[in-house]
Amino acid sequence: MLSEFELIEYIAAGTRRPAPGVVVGIGDDCAVLQPTAGMLQLVSTDALIESVHFDRGWHPPELLGAKAASVNISDIAAMGGIPRYAFLALGLPVGIAQEWVKLLLDGFMAKLAEHGVVLIGGDTVRTPGPLMLTVTVIGEAPHGEVCYRSGARPGEVVLVSGPLGGAAAGLAICRSGDHALAERYPDLVLAHLDPAAKNPLGRELGRSGLVSAMLDTSDGLATDLAHLCRRSGVGIEINAASLPMAKDLAAVAAALGEDSLAWTLRGGEDYQLVFTAAPDAVAGLVRLANDCCGHTLFPVGRVIAGAGVFLCGDGARREISMQGYDHFG
Ligand code: ADP
Ligand code: MG
Repeated sequence: MLSEFELIEYIAAGTRRPAPGVVVGIGDDCAVLQPTAGMLQLVSTDALIESVHFDRGWHPPELLGAKAASVNISDIAAMGGIPRYAFLALGLPVGIAQEWVKLLLDGFMAKLAEHGVVLIGGDTVRTPGPLMLTVTVIGEAPHGEVCYRSGARPGEVVLVSGPLGGAAAGLAICRSGDHALAERYPDLVLAHLDPAAKNPLGRELGRSGLVSAMLDTSDGLATDLAHLCRRSGVGIEINAASLPMAKDLAAVAAALGEDSLAWTLRGGEDYQLVFTAAPDAVAGLVRLANDCCGHTLFPVGRVIAGAGVFLCGDGARREISMQGYDHFG
């Protein structure tokens, strides 16, 4: 095992220096940043805990590192921002293999680099418990282009940036231990192991000025939309027939005796952007997402007066608010 100092040296060696806006990065008691004039700063933290968020038994270290970066960058994208800096707090169990930790760090740093994010600090500690990876990311966006959860208004359209349910299906495949299934549906397995942050799509949506409210899906559409509704003081009706399901979801659900609609509505960790916009802005947004980032947007429902998230289809309407993942549920 490397010493704490050697680990930090390994991390620092893989970090870009000098970097724009960074007066001091890794190496002092604090990172020192020069904020960009005219920009608001966006800051978010996510913790990944072994056995809660990932299983070392099936999660390759490079992809786990990449995922830790992606899920944080996704939060910045969901506000319409540009991700700039990251901090990494690492809690390493006693006796963990040095090679495994290096691969984890390599995957983390490579994903940061892919998004132009610079690692500027963190902490490295030993833990008697499970592996812990806590990442803080700092981004920025111009005043007036930040997309909050609170701006949705009745009459607007709800859009999703891509298919849903893939991460839940991938997790179910990994849990099942069915290697044939995993080999047959690698894209679903990767949706769980290596989700992609929708950056720069989030930034482009923010820049457009056409998005009234936005968030990323981490706990399942039903729960994430309920958050948006509560913050905006509105309700949402989802059209079941319009929900974009991940490819092969139904086949995998059938093979595992699971429900593909439940994965689509309640499965977490797809990290799609979900947002609202006026009906006459939808065509422009669809074009913009395609032109800027090759993304297909899916209109899935509409904002209504009132409260709650409802699924509509086959002449029925049922409430689905908060049916996603709850750590304490
Ligand atoms: P302190 O004891 O003052 O908290 P440390 O010895 O923990 O400082 O860290 C030294 C430097 O290395 C600091 O700049 C810190 O931000 C950085 N650092 C420590 N661990 C990590 C890590 N896992 N990722 C990135 N930077 C780290
Ligand atoms: Mg410290």
